[in-house]
Amino acid sequence: MAIEKNVLSLFNGDSHVAELDTSKLIITLAKNLKPVTEDVQFGETKTDHMLVINYEPETGWSAPEIKPYGPISLDPASSCFQYCPNVFEGMKAYLGPNGEARLFRPKKNMERLARSAERVALPPFDTEALLILIKRLVTIDARWIPARPGHSLYIRPTIIGTRSALGVAASDSAMMYVIMTPTGPYFKTDAKGISLLAVGSTVRSWPGGTGGHKLGLNYAPGFLPQRIAAKQGYSQILWLLGDDHKITEAGAMNFFVVVQRDDGDLDIITPPLDGTILPGLTRLSCLALLDAHTAHRTVLPNLPPTLRLHTHERPLTMPELAAWSAEGKLLEAFGVGTAVAVAPVGRIGWEGKDLVLPSENRGLGDVGRALLDRILDIQTGKVAWEDWSETCDV
Ligand SMILES: *Cc1c(COP(=O)(O)O)cnc(C)c1O
Repeated sequence: MAIEKNVLSLFNGDSHVAELDTSKLIITLAKNLKPVTEDVQFGETKTDHMLVINYEPETGWSAPEIKPYGPISLDPASSCFQYCPNVFEGMKAYLGPNGEARLFRPKKNMERLARSAERVALPPFDTEALLILIKRLVTIDARWIPARPGHSLYIRPTIIGTRSALGVAASDSAMMYVIMTPTGPYFKTDAKGISLLAVGSTVRSWPGGTGGHKLGLNYAPGFLPQRIAAKQGYSQILWLLGDDHKITEAGAMNFFVVVQRDDGDLDIITPPLDGTILPGLTRLSCLALLDAHTAHRTVLPNLPPTLRLHTHERPLTMPELAAWSAEGKLLEAFGVGTAVAVAPVGRIGWEGKDLVLPSENRGLGDVGRALLDRILDIQTGKVAWEDWSETCDV
């Protein structure tokens, strides 16, 4: 919060500009509602409405508007088109047991969005107010939340810099908007496991860089390597960093491995949040659930209650992975993120060879499956866990 206050004063000086104010919300409903369709490709189908709020340095945040989904009009010189002060979030609404809309740990998304905005000097905002507005939007478009298991409504809060001058400087005006799209399973090859090409010649993130924030500019540089990997038959890139081939992330997912220990317990390892790793909510939730199982605070689905799962946030390298694989100790690898929840990794191409994991044949392993099942149950309100799932009542 101290940092946020600092940024606020950077932006506003001594003047008092308007905060994001939920009581000023203007709702204009669409005259013609679209037929609800399933999403063919991730993010193509949009719901009927969107939330839009503008920030101007003299006046602050405008009255929030929920209005029919449609194009926005911007000056071609807008900062977002030139210097990319663009940040976003990815969250989902799930249908609960009584047909109610539920969000999964949404305060964490709001905090991360504020951190991302701060990193590219976009104006700060009241995170609680934005969450209330998102809940209103989800409630209005609730008929778009798919009822099919594994399906949900993906929510994309976005903030872009709209300063309309070409000088290379922070954008002192901004637009915040939230759009939504119904989604099914992210990868078509879900059951069997995705294939990864380990790449270290181009990197996604680096020490002191922006990989630990959800900034639009982190993604475009990955598109060409991704296309090259796809041509070689791999579905995603496993991003490496440094001469020791440290693993950072898989595509836009956090990466986990499960390793057999000599004492019969399991090590579950994921790279540490050293600034090169996006601090994923799914990552955080997986670590917490694994620890809860080991501490006997819960029993994860279909895992022996006595099985000890030792979580480690520590650097993880490809040579280590290859060695464990050769010894038959590498039991599972999976990617985690809001879009996929938990996705099994079937094989990893590295230095001209394929490291094949058990998931190549049988899909998710026991630990990945347990995490996926428990997380889905919490997200859809079937199992209560701490304050992780909230309804959209405001
Ligand atoms: C969004 C994202 C993730 C996953 O974060 P969640 O909060 O779990 O959805 C992981 N890596 C990258 C690069 C991401 O952009």
